[in-house]
Amino acid sequence: MNFDIKKIVRPNIEILKAYSSAKDEYTGEANVLLDANENSLGSPLTKWYNRYPDPYQKKVKEKLAFIKQIKAEQIFLGNGSDECIDILFRTFCEPGKDNIIICPPTYPMYEVGANINSIEIKSAPLLPNFQLNVAHIEQLVNEQTKIIWICSPNNPTGNSLDRIDIETILNHFNGLVVVDEAYINFSKQKSFAQSLIDYPNLVVLQTLSKAWGLAGLRLGMCFASDAIVKYMNKVKAPYNISMVTQELALTALEEVGQVNDMIAHLVDMRIALAAVIETMPFVEKVYPSDTNFILVKIPKATELYRYLLTQGIVVRDRSSLENCSDSLRITIGTEQENTALVDAMAKWIEFTFAND
Ligand SMILES: *Cc1c(COP(=O)(O)O)cnc(C)c1O
Repeated sequence: MNFDIKKIVRPNIEILKAYSSAKDEYTGEANVLLDANENSLGSPLTKWYNRYPDPYQKKVKEKLAFIKQIKAEQIFLGNGSDECIDILFRTFCEPGKDNIIICPPTYPMYEVGANINSIEIKSAPLLPNFQLNVAHIEQLVNEQTKIIWICSPNNPTGNSLDRIDIETILNHFNGLVVVDEAYINFSKQKSFAQSLIDYPNLVVLQTLSKAWGLAGLRLGMCFASDAIVKYMNKVKAPYNISMVTQELALTALEEVGQVNDMIAHLVDMRIALAAVIETMPFVEKVYPSDTNFILVKIPKATELYRYLLTQGIVVRDRSSLENCSDSLRITIGTEQENTALVDAMAKWIEFTFAND
């Protein structure tokens, strides 16, 4: 491998003089703060929110560094991992010139991000067993390929991708390999966060939105080399993570034990729900899952989706995605919600296939 970050970053970002905030220029402990045009009198809320937040979220990163066993300098935080995805495009991909590789069916934000930024999308669909087609990916790579997007465990299929395949790509590709681990806490697989030292081209995405139960907070995490994080910091908005988010994230990150209990409970319910749905008549397949959702293949899936809506139950119809015909993605709910889903499905199956 011959990875050189200077050949990957956009030339305009390499030479960009980043915005220097008041908080960048003075970081000491002064008590007369007249440098940022804040309201010195206070706010209608509490006295602290009149100040701008820490632009680099130092306390949150220190806590995360401890939990993830990496350096704080290897962490970039975004307004959800969706912001991390966008910043990766804007930092490394030249509009109208560079390309990226995606492996559908997968999380649609990689494609949306590429389209927003006018980046060409090359597609190496997952194999029928929903694993990576490494040979196809290698065929697609050219001089302008900047990022290969890999989602493991994958949304919407639920499976983890073969670690050896991901390592092969990391070893042979001279651009960035983003491994989106939004669902890693539900999986028995090891995170790639501990492999940053082995791969200068590795970027790992995680989030507080799923296992941590904080989708409303909007905090996405990106783990990568110090050099990659430095470039991303140049591109982000100076105060992209609000003070409220930083405070609440710090509080939540104290509760690793409680979160682990929720993860165990959700995994138990996933196994139970998959077992029940698997035995229902006409269900073709419940795909193995390492996440907090299951993908279910059933004839007339879109009709079932519409019926469930009439019962006040919303699942995700993924039938239009590659290799996902007649498939619904179902998030694991509470015990009560899962029961409601199973009852409604059973009823629909009974009257829909009554004459079959
Ligand atoms: C849910 C999800 C995310 C999370 O995005 P946030 O912006 O952090 O809420 C990222 N990637 C995948 C694959 C997801 O399914």
